Amino acid sequence: MSSGKQFDVIVVGAGFAGMYALHRLRTLGFSVQVFEVGDGVGGTWYWNRYPGARCDVNSLEYSYQFSQELQQQWNWSEKYAPQPEILNYANHVADRFDLRRDIRFSTRVQTMTFDQKNNSWQLQTEQGEIFQASYCIMATGCLSKNNIPDFEDLDKFRGRLLHTGDWPHEKVDFSGQRVGIIGTGSSAIQVIPQIAQQAAILTVFQRTPSFSIPAHNAQMDKSYERSIKSRYADFRQDNSKRYAALNNNPNSISALEISDDEREAEYEARWQAGGLAFLASFNDLAINIDANKTAAAFVHKKIHQIVEDQALAKRLCPQTVLGCKRLCVDTDYYQTFNRDNVKLIDINEDAIEKITATGLKTKDNVYELDTLILATGFDAMTGALLSIDIRGIDGLTLQEKWQQGPKNYLGLTVHGFPNFFTITGPGSPSVLANMIVAIEQHVDWIADCLSYLRENSLHSIEANEESERQWVKLVNRIADQTLFPSGCNSWYTGANIPGKRRVFMPYLGFPSYVEKCNEVAANSYSSFKLE
Ligand code: NAP
Repeated sequence: MSSGKQFDVIVVGAGFAGMYALHRLRTLGFSVQVFEVGDGVGGTWYWNRYPGARCDVNSLEYSYQFSQELQQQWNWSEKYAPQPEILNYANHVADRFDLRRDIRFSTRVQTMTFDQKNNSWQLQTEQGEIFQASYCIMATGCLSKNNIPDFEDLDKFRGRLLHTGDWPHEKVDFSGQRVGIIGTGSSAIQVIPQIAQQAAILTVFQRTPSFSIPAHNAQMDKSYERSIKSRYADFRQDNSKRYAALNNNPNSISALEISDDEREAEYEARWQAGGLAFLASFNDLAINIDANKTAAAFVHKKIHQIVEDQALAKRLCPQTVLGCKRLCVDTDYYQTFNRDNVKLIDINEDAIEKITATGLKTKDNVYELDTLILATGFDAMTGALLSIDIRGIDGLTLQEKWQQGPKNYLGLTVHGFPNFFTITGPGSPSVLANMIVAIEQHVDWIADCLSYLRENSLHSIEANEESERQWVKLVNRIADQTLFPSGCNSWYTGANIPGKRRVFMPYLGFPSYVEKCNEVAANSYSSFKLE
């Protein structure tokens, strides 16, 4: 392979992780090049532009904390920021810290090969250009490889085919249209109420219903914003000591320790407050099936109160463990099914057979559609990494290494792949924590690590095989104490992708995770092979 332009660090991806990695490492004096497939920054918020897309973590928490000036000067307009505002924020950060000059947009990295002789990585882009770097940082995102199910004759559909994760940049007008949507996860739950207001008919094809809690989104409460900003650092620090690094007011008692009325009152208060904090109603919803059933029963009751047609309400009630699939947060999702122009098809009863030129055929029916939307999610956590041909020592590919599920150390590094880091990879809290907090923690850890190597004239860092083995065991052991690995077919385990090895991928518990990462750094990275 011919040699190309050389950098200290190459970062793949210019979402929130890649942007901060660039800023932090550049500030430390490393030469950094970022590659990004899209033609703009923002990652998830660049691609997921469907109507109704918004974050379900409070804006004052879902934002960077690395710059005091940034977090004080930026004002969010709503409690939960809508996608366009988050994308504006990403662009603002890119401008403010002059990031674009080191980002190559519209560039897909195709291969990454570790050169043992020179102890460096060689990357080739889709355009055939070659670059080299001492270190590579994968900021490719957890939910960035779209899941496009293998529906028969999907390519024959002559109407408009959309995926929520790759939404057009221009406004899509559904007025007067017959629209079909497959999927009822977080993305579908946000887009369905919006499209229902425009479409002539919206047909929702549901395989598994999701639990959804109302967002009760609102304009930003200015006095709340002022109060948080007056103690922002403490607020952030308090949140980082919580399980998911969120200000979710965790209750420290069991759902089974109190009277039915008290339990109901707690759920009702959380329902009225809205959002993901519902999952923190009691301390045992994730670990005790009887406790979990009380929460599920409460949501079922709410669905039956909201949806007028009781048979339809029943079909919308999930029978899985609450929280096992990512809890959804909505605005008028269940209410939307009271509209005359919205139909729910349970594909367990009437399976999708094929897509036709003009719509979709189930076992018993034919649906004529102008637009078909796939809200079918992502090949999560490993999908984006494994779609690049990554070769470590002796040509071992990451695909081979992870055939039986992801194996890494600290969710950050992989044995056999020196000088290679993943941000919010499997084996780290990532999707089960406030993502931006998790991203900043990872970038800071990597930046400290690279500084340590430089200060000590070291050129290579590789996870020890035994450290990795113990880490994978630990991640599984923690997950197995909860109801999540086996309580449903979630993307946390890869069960949404046919043929994907079923392994619960995230590390559960942000504070204990951070402690372990800090310990490793404080012990001079002794669980790594350093050269
Ligand atoms: P998702 O949660 O994986 O939902 C995908 C949906 O498509 C599920 O209902 C799934 O059914 C269905 N599906 C997949 N393959 C199918 C097939 N072959 N036939 C029929 N149905 C099929 O994906 P998502 O809604 O895009 O959300 C992914 C994650 O992104 C969320 O969990 C969340 O972490 C994040 N997200 C966050 C927000 C937010 O901040 N508010 C918004 C959107 C997304 P099954 O359940 O049966 O597999």
